[in-house]
Amino acid sequence: MSLNSPIEWTDATWNPVRGCVKISPGCKYCYAEKFAERFRGVKGHPYEQGFDLRLVPEKLTEPFSWRSPKLVFVNSMSDLFQEGVPDWYAEAVSRVMTIANWHTYQVLTKRSQRLCDMLARKLEFAAEQENIWWGVSVEDRKHGLPRVDHLRQSPAKVRFLSIEPLLEDLGEIDLSGIARVIVGGESGPGARLMKREWVVSIRRQCRQQKVPFFFKQWGGVRKSKNGRLLDGKTYDEYPLRIALPVPDRADCMKHAADFLKGFDLGSRCDLVQLTA
Ligand code: SF4
Repeated sequence: MSLNSPIEWTDATWNPVRGCVKISPGCKYCYAEKFAERFRGVKGHPYEQGFDLRLVPEKLTEPFSWRSPKLVFVNSMSDLFQEGVPDWYAEAVSRVMTIANWHTYQVLTKRSQRLCDMLARKLEFAAEQENIWWGVSVEDRKHGLPRVDHLRQSPAKVRFLSIEPLLEDLGEIDLSGIARVIVGGESGPGARLMKREWVVSIRRQCRQQKVPFFFKQWGGVRKSKNGRLLDGKTYDEYPLRIALPVPDRADCMKHAADFLKGFDLGSRCDLVQLTA
C-alpha cells in the first residue's frame, strides 16, 4: 500500500492484485509495467515476479488498518477485471470495499464488459455502494468509447471515466450517468502528444452535461515542466464524497477477521495473514 500516492486524483493505492496483460493502445507505455519490471528477479521485493499477474491475498485486509478515511485507487498496478483474476477474488476485493465503507474506492478497468457483467450478477452487492466509484479507461474512439457504453449499462451507482492517455479527439461523448471525468496526457520517454483542443472539447462537454472535470496533467517527456494548468487554471473537481468516521482499531480488526472467516480464504490461498 502507498499512502499519499503521487497519483494526482487519489491519496492512497491498494494493490491486492499485481501485474497485468496489455489489451489496447493505452497500455503501450504502461507505467505499472515499467515500474514492476525494474524489480524482476530482486529476491523478496513485492515485484520480484515483474509484471506477471499475481493475486496478493495478504493485502486484502489492508484498508482495515488505515486510521483515516482515504480516497483509494484500487489496483493501480493491475486491472481487477482481467481474465486471469478469478470471480471469487474480484468478489473478495469488493467485499472489503463494502465492509470498510469509510474509505472511498476508485476501481478502474479496461475490461469493461466483464465489469458490467459482474456488477449485474456476482458483484451486485457492491454496485450500489456510494463509496465505490467504478470507472473505465478511455484512450481513443475505437477501444475507449465502447467501454463508456458498457459502464453506463452497468448498475454501478457512481461511474467515472479516466481519459488517459488521451490519444485523439474523442468527438461528442454521451456523459449521461457519469459522475466524474479525469483527463490526462501520457508522460515519460516516447510519450504521445495530447492536443489542447481535444482537452478543451472534453471540458466543454463536461460543463454542458454538468459532470465534474479533473485535469490531471499535460504529460510529455518532462511532465513536471508541462504541469497541469489549462488556460491558467487547475481543474480538481470531484463528485460528492461521503466521509464516514473510521471505527476504532479493535472494531477494524474484528471486521478484518470476520471477512477472512466468511471468505474462507485460508483454504483458497496459502499466503493469508491479517494486516490490520
Ligand atoms: S490495463 Fe492498465 S495496468 Fe494493465 S497493462 Fe494496460 S495500462 Fe497497464
